[in-house]
Amino acid sequence: MIKLKSSAEIEQMKVAGDLVGRTHDMVAEEIRPGMTTLELDSLVERFIRDHSGIPSFKGFRGFPGSACISVNDEVVHGIPGDRVLAEGDIVSVDIGAIVDGWHGDAARTHALGEIPARTQELLDITQAALAAGIDNAQPGNKLGRISAAVQETAEAAGCGVVRQLVGHGIGREMHEEPQVPNFGSPTSGVTLKVGMVLAIEPMINLGTPEVKTLPDGWTIVTADGQPSAHFEHTVAITGSGPVITTLACQVNA
Ligand code: MG
Repeated sequence: MIKLKSSAEIEQMKVAGDLVGRTHDMVAEEIRPGMTTLELDSLVERFIRDHSGIPSFKGFRGFPGSACISVNDEVVHGIPGDRVLAEGDIVSVDIGAIVDGWHGDAARTHALGEIPARTQELLDITQAALAAGIDNAQPGNKLGRISAAVQETAEAAGCGVVRQLVGHGIGREMHEEPQVPNFGSPTSGVTLKVGMVLAIEPMINLGTPEVKTLPDGWTIVTADGQPSAHFEHTVAITGSGPVITTLACQVNA
């Protein structure tokens, strides 16, 4: 069942989303070659807790980190550890936080120094796919409009859309109904309503869409070893259109 949120509840979700957005801004300032992914994770956990939040990924189904940190060919769910980030890496950081029982969830992919032009295109295309998806998160649209917009943006640029992982509803739980695929027909799915809140999160590969899971049971990597990017926002569907809760400074805007 899809749980619709009142406008007061969406305001509360903006508080959680704002903390996620500000945590991402902190990551953008701090991430650099030479640091380990565990060091970055520790910064994320401290920032969230210092601002009265709870890192929602920590302990979720046994996940050990506060952020999922996925490097280069890793798509999502990378476990923070002793890997040292290097110049030329792309690093996807996925962060969730709970404030007063409400969740925010967002991801960004960072380039560390110089990266190949085609890899930069992958980052730009994935951001454009997210923006196209968000533009279609309008009341009265079929959910599939979001999915199709993401897919068309990515595939028009020759990139592969990951099928095995999808976005999701979000609220008092990190994962609520409905699922939000990054592919599919624009006429498919439920009709979007005011009060739905969705985590829209294209996972786009430079090569083919196929992925596999590493033996750690968490890390998803591209099957062909090519890079993958991930951008995500938590988006509330309101009477005046989509509102991104996870943009920093949204609360005071
Ligand atoms: Mg998510």
